[in-house]
Amino acid sequence: MMTAMPETFDIVIIGGGILGTSLSYFLSALGSAGRVAVIEQAPRVAFHTSGRNTGEVHAPYLYDPRKKRLFAKAAFHGYEMWEEYSKMKGLPFKRGGVVEVASDERDIAMLEKYMRWGVENGLREDSDIRMVSGSDLRKVEPEVRCKAALVVRREGSVDYAVLTGSLMEDSASYGTAFLLGARAVRIDRTRDGWSVLVIDADRGGRRGAGSHAVGMDADAATATSQGREIRCRFLINAAGGESVDIAHRTGLAENLTDVHFRGEYWRAPSEYSDLTRTSIYSVPEFPDYPFLDPHWIVRVDGSCEVGPNAVPVFSPYGYDRAENIRTFLPKTLELLGSGAAKAALDRKLQSLVLNEMHSSLSKSAMIRRVKKFLPRIDPRKFTERGVAGIRSSVIGSDGRFVPDVIMISDKSEQSLHILNYNSPGATGVLPFSVHIVERLRRAGVVGTPDRRVQCGPWKFEDVAEKLCDGRDG
Ligand SMILES: Cc1cc2nc3c(=O)[nH]c(=O)nc-3n(C[C@H](O)[C@H](O)[C@H](O)COP(=O)(O)OP(=O)(O)OC[C@H]3O[C@@H](n4cnc5c(N)ncnc54)[C@H](O)[C@@H]3O)c2cc1C
Repeated sequence: MMTAMPETFDIVIIGGGILGTSLSYFLSALGSAGRVAVIEQAPRVAFHTSGRNTGEVHAPYLYDPRKKRLFAKAAFHGYEMWEEYSKMKGLPFKRGGVVEVASDERDIAMLEKYMRWGVENGLREDSDIRMVSGSDLRKVEPEVRCKAALVVRREGSVDYAVLTGSLMEDSASYGTAFLLGARAVRIDRTRDGWSVLVIDADRGGRRGAGSHAVGMDADAATATSQGREIRCRFLINAAGGESVDIAHRTGLAENLTDVHFRGEYWRAPSEYSDLTRTSIYSVPEFPDYPFLDPHWIVRVDGSCEVGPNAVPVFSPYGYDRAENIRTFLPKTLELLGSGAAKAALDRKLQSLVLNEMHSSLSKSAMIRRVKKFLPRIDPRKFTERGVAGIRSSVIGSDGRFVPDVIMISDKSEQSLHILNYNSPGATGVLPFSVHIVERLRRAGVVGTPDRRVQCGPWKFEDVAEKLCDGRDG
């Protein structure tokens, strides 16, 4: 039995991805949130999706301002914030820009729509985003073949694992406690808040590199004798691919489920490093679903990759076969009893999934998706896989993918669950976190500090104003 006195904090955040770390940064920088802790099962922050992505600081032209309003606004302001933060810290930020190519009339109509969305989301026509013909594009990108393209200048490239690590150091210096290698396996209500049972992640099944919250009960059962108890008055669930499971564990979001997709990459040989100036994206074949087609990526260090695809897997840590075999049955049973069962009947989704699975099994099939607009590349020259990352997309009871981030509080307003925090989540995380902290401040969870307080290179109130248009709650 546990005998030690529980450790007590004012705010506990489950999840040390880029979101949980950034939230802790602003909460601690304010100085009025009390004691803040981040519980992360992996040995370091940004171990999972936050450190396994494309590294783009996205310009918000792909996001319908009516469906992804908050994300689009956060992405718009995220660009300048990451640039300022990187400059202050001496970390790499590449102002590369991006090109989105169209190969036929349908794609051109999509580009026109993206152009409108981009401008509605704050990009300036001509200086930030402009449409060019295929022949005009060849003057700047001679290797790229297309009918037309959007040339977007306000897009950058970074290493989000490095940025998250730096935010963590700053946050710790402001007073945040980072409990690394600690897996939250049970959450209970107490009279005035929450009790979280954590176990050493290496003890209850290695969660650093893989397992699934469906097993939370099993873990908790084996862990009550070994675990330690953390108490808090307010709980934030920023657990990425486990956030839906954690919300379920506290009796919330029961109408929602999530499906996991592994995004795989192939590293390009160094001879292709100068093939293009910028990353090149193509109009997705299935724009109504939350996946893009594999792109040509120019990373912040100048290396190039092709990816990601979106292969269905059974766990937020389903990087390998063993983890997927282990989680296949529980996840399948969960999906059968949820809105995902309706989604599975969707013909378009079936076709998309088959396409993605094919590009996982066949390297050539994946590289050919990019070769269509970058004909010089030869699939045989791609010999090394990149680092795969997993996105967890939330599906409603109607069987549809939920397009925007979801924020849910419990009845007593003592917790906040952030679900479906997908792309461009890393881009917009700094303004988004300020938005959340401001929301907690208004709700009285965080004391009322001087809003002019300096958080790194920014004044808190200046960032809070950026996302506040009176409709964000
Ligand atoms: C292939 C791919 C490419 C992408 N490219 C981009 C891009 O170019 N630009 C962009 O802006 N966005 C991109 N994204 C999206 C972006 O990476 C995510 O929005 C972002 O990383 C989500 O951060 P997070 O902190 O919510 O989740 P995560 O990084 O998954 O962090 C959640 C953390 O919670 C921890 N956790 C979960 N359960 C528990 C528990 N019970 N106890 C303790 N710890 C727990 C996990 O270990 C994990 O570290 C991409 C995503 C993918 C999958």
